[in-house]
Amino acid sequence: MSNHGERSSAKWRPMNGCYFQFALNRATASRLVFALLFALLSWACASTAHPVLSGDATTPSSVRVAFRAQSDSFTIARDDYDAIWRAEGHRIVETMERVSGLRFDSPPYADTSIVAIVFEGVSNSGYRDDPMHLRASYPPDTKRATLVHELGHRLQVGVARPGEDEHGVLFLWLYDTWVALWGRKFADEQVLVERARRGPYPKAWDAALALDSAGRAARFRALRTR
Ligand SMILES: [Zn+2]
Repeated sequence: MSNHGERSSAKWRPMNGCYFQFALNRATASRLVFALLFALLSWACASTAHPVLSGDATTPSSVRVAFRAQSDSFTIARDDYDAIWRAEGHRIVETMERVSGLRFDSPPYADTSIVAIVFEGVSNSGYRDDPMHLRASYPPDTKRATLVHELGHRLQVGVARPGEDEHGVLFLWLYDTWVALWGRKFADEQVLVERARRGPYPKAWDAALALDSAGRAARFRALRTR
């Protein structure tokens, strides 16, 4: 939540700064008066900055994920996913939104109430009313990685153009999101897991990891703002 203060103070400081500059130009009295005025206005700027900081737009979106077992044999796996979300959902949303620069609650693609069906099959993101599907048999870390991967497809809806590889776009920010959430070792292990699935994954991971973190962020920003 360190962004919280930075974004808001940047927004409000110029206004206070202008007032301060105006006062300085008019301060033709002695250095003592100048120093006192400076101290007084600095204090005033500092003390008025904080009240306007609360409740700004950097608060993460509120995202609800309801996990459902496709049948009774998946209730334990369902509870595992649910426990991950209850413990880390807020941090997951905050990190995904910070790394991607996108928000789950931004129109026209707002997507904040998600149903996720736990079953034994190929995971997929679904979209809005179409439920997400998550494989039951993954080990704990791959449950975490896959949940963020599938949420990532939902969060980046509208970024990839028709015909563009969704994963080529997603992996520009998924790796750095995994690193921020659970560390580089976790991220590298989950890249290996995804590569082993073949299909579009190895090529898309090669392309994303050929860039460094700043390069991936710049590339994704260019796609997001084109
Ligand atoms: Zn995918």
